Amino acid sequence: MPAEAVFIDLLTDSGTGAMSDRQWSALMRGDESYANARSWFHFRDAVQSFTGMEFILPTHQGRAAENILFSELSKPGRIVPSNNHFDTTRANCEFYGAEALDLVIPEGKDPHSTHPFKGNIDLGRLEDLLKKDRDKVPVCMCTITNNTGGGQPVSLENIKQASAICRKHGVPFFLDACRFAENSYFIKQREEKYSSWTIEKIAKETFSCADGATMSAKKDGLSNIGGFLAVRDRKLYESFSNALILREGFLTYGGLTGRDLEALAVGFEEVMDEAYLASRIGQVAFLGEMLRERGVPFLEPPGGHAIYLNALEAFPHIKREEFAAQSLCAALYLEGGIRGVEIGSLMFGKTDAAGNFVPSPMELVRLAIPRRVYTESHMRYVADVAGEIVKNREKYGGYRITYEAPFLRHFTMKLERA
Ligand SMILES: *Cc1c(COP(=O)(O)O)cnc(C)c1O
Repeated sequence: MPAEAVFIDLLTDSGTGAMSDRQWSALMRGDESYANARSWFHFRDAVQSFTGMEFILPTHQGRAAENILFSELSKPGRIVPSNNHFDTTRANCEFYGAEALDLVIPEGKDPHSTHPFKGNIDLGRLEDLLKKDRDKVPVCMCTITNNTGGGQPVSLENIKQASAICRKHGVPFFLDACRFAENSYFIKQREEKYSSWTIEKIAKETFSCADGATMSAKKDGLSNIGGFLAVRDRKLYESFSNALILREGFLTYGGLTGRDLEALAVGFEEVMDEAYLASRIGQVAFLGEMLRERGVPFLEPPGGHAIYLNALEAFPHIKREEFAAQSLCAALYLEGGIRGVEIGSLMFGKTDAAGNFVPSPMELVRLAIPRRVYTESHMRYVADVAGEIVKNREKYGGYRITYEAPFLRHFTMKLERA
């Protein structure tokens, strides 16, 4: 389906945001010198200023930073804990042999829990793991906000304690910092102690707990491409540097153009504007409110970047093996030209050895909101369409698979109406 045939595109918030006038003018100042370009120093200074980390390696996007990190730290027999690994993080970690272990708190897995920080790491399980298997753990990750868990935030208290546990055991603590500004905004709103702090101060405090970070700047870099790997330790930096040159490019551009680096430097500054964050996160919450009013079930509370519609509750009449979430996804497009993405049994379901269908625990449709693109009216329209679909649910049936690839089938599979 060509993107042009989509009216409201909520497939992802990654690289789909609109750049500001300041970013567009920054593009014009791109210095395309191969090494040590002026634009590199702008980018580096911006990233150093909020991470407080000395060594910055630019990459073309988040997964390139993850690849470099895990090419050095992941090996068979090792275990890498996180609240929830994002799928590219998990894939890179497991590609080099380590086990990617999710330790999110139990509330993080409950679709009805309204815990304010559903992205928190279970500190007891982290401590137990490090007491028992410290030698197997090369790094501990923490994803802010927790994308896989529904864009849910992690509290600063939790980050501080997880970091303290890691430091006690001598394990480096790394942030997957794709949405660090959105996470900081939730901390300001929901964690009493930090309610009078600026977003910048909260972000700096967050990074001060970490020994390193990976980031896809296609999220809170407010740009269409970019990322970085940051670290405090010189030895680690040196080992990452070799991998960066091999895979991405020279140390001062890492797969990006000078003009990309300029736009990113401005994006990192703009993303910490509290008025921007209030509007951004407020827009997602507004969509949630509109959906609630129309009786459309979704994972509570709304995340920072997305709403996850609960298709098991929206379409209870569809059999588990007929992909309720895919049916809801198709209905949103057919009725309203809205593109979301299925996160359910197409993605995670399996057929066991006896040939039985094993569904994923939830059937969800993710509606990710691009930054600075849509208005309140667009959100109301999405809620209206979803509301009508749920009201007339009997109209919509299930689907069956007619083609699937042996791996990552959800990217290329074909379906027909059941
Ligand atoms: C998007 C994302 C990544 C991967 O970044 P890409 O730029 O898509 O490679 C990693 N972690 C999280 C939490 C993400 O949201």
